[in-house]
Amino acid sequence: MTSRHCEIAGAGIAGLTTACVLAIRGWSVQVHERSNELREMGAGIYLKNNSLAVLEELGLLEEIKASGMILRAGRISGRSGKVLANHIVHGIDTVTVARGALHRSLTNRAQGLGVRFRTGSQVTAVDPAGSLTANGERFEADLVVGADGVHSIVRDSLGLLQGITMLEEGGIRVLVPRWPDEREGMTTEQWSGTCRLGIVPCSKDQLYLYLIGPARESGVHTVPVNKKFWCDLFPEEVDVLNRIGDIARYDQFSLIKVKGWSAGRVAIIGDSVHAQPPNLGQGAGMAIANASALGAALGENTDVPTALRLWEESRRPVTEEVQLWSYRYGLIFYALPFNALFGEQIRASIMSMIGRIRYTARKLAWLRHGGHPPDALALGGKT
Ligand SMILES: Cc1cc2nc3c(=O)[nH]c(=O)nc-3n(C[C@H](O)[C@H](O)[C@H](O)COP(=O)(O)OP(=O)(O)OC[C@H]3O[C@@H](n4cnc5c(N)ncnc54)[C@H](O)[C@@H]3O)c2cc1C
Repeated sequence: MTSRHCEIAGAGIAGLTTACVLAIRGWSVQVHERSNELREMGAGIYLKNNSLAVLEELGLLEEIKASGMILRAGRISGRSGKVLANHIVHGIDTVTVARGALHRSLTNRAQGLGVRFRTGSQVTAVDPAGSLTANGERFEADLVVGADGVHSIVRDSLGLLQGITMLEEGGIRVLVPRWPDEREGMTTEQWSGTCRLGIVPCSKDQLYLYLIGPARESGVHTVPVNKKFWCDLFPEEVDVLNRIGDIARYDQFSLIKVKGWSAGRVAIIGDSVHAQPPNLGQGAGMAIANASALGAALGENTDVPTALRLWEESRRPVTEEVQLWSYRYGLIFYALPFNALFGEQIRASIMSMIGRIRYTARKLAWLRHGGHPPDALALGGKT
């Protein structure tokens, strides 16, 4: 069979993974990135079973593990220091890594597989018959992929958006220096009122911090970080908070609902399909897993629209389940009655209830740890 060609909009984690998966399967691939350089915004990222399995198939697991950290345990605690949830990670199923390192690994792998990149290339339109327009130039393809993020032009131009909800929470992400062996293998999340502070080792010399709270509070969304605001909330972590420099990223969380994952020969993937609050740390994980499943579906079906339909049928239910639970989890931070007065106690009770009810405890652990890798994961050993 002659090589099939794919044009991709967006060189984020979703676009790069899709490019690698297709290139391994013999597709010729071109990726359009509107920025002038290939780079990932953000700080650190958790990778779980589902994404790690795909990265292993792509031959990237070892280098990602080497540049990141393997987590062995996680803890959530309240303002008083009371432990609300504790979990031990068995085996190698959670790796944290600096986003830049993950992005570089994927980019290098894609380039090694012959994927072509066009930077400064803004996609403005796609045609379900199989073409993409960027910077006024039209590119024909057997498959077009919209991996262009929350505000996807590809998705919207096809009328696939059902709704976008801006949530009441947002978060700052930042990298700070890590001292030798500091917090080895251990991720912690602390709660104070309606705010959360996560401290996560993500490389031998970097800690990844996430600072989450109500989007309306200026202390929460101010960048450079308002250190006094956060130090007052988390006085026991002043040492770490004071390491924060000027570079940080704030995002208000959002929830995307779509009518479908494809139209004709055009598929959408990643945040453009399932942007969600980061409570289960699975947004990129789902994008990576779904990219692998897309490759498998296209390998088994030569007719692209049929492959896209089967891909959606197999991956959409679990993707929407992860999204729903991630959204529900966030509600305990901002949708409680009497939040200011009793919020902390109620949240602690809810956490303990979740831990005690077998169904919710198992469900959350399954979703959070990516116990839902793509069925047809195997890339056929074509790495
Ligand atoms: C605070 C926070 C913490 C998170 N933590 C985790 C975590 O621990 N684990 C996890 O799995 N997920 C996590 N996520 C989710 C994860 O970050 C996202 O799901 C993932 O990065 C989305 O990748 P993407 O490639 O779909 O989109 P993006 O990263 O938004 O990439 C889209 C790319 O497309 C480009 N682009 C956009 N429009 C165009 C256009 N018209 N033409 C050309 N290029 C275009 C953009 O410049 C960008 O490079 C977190 C999210 C947040 C907000």
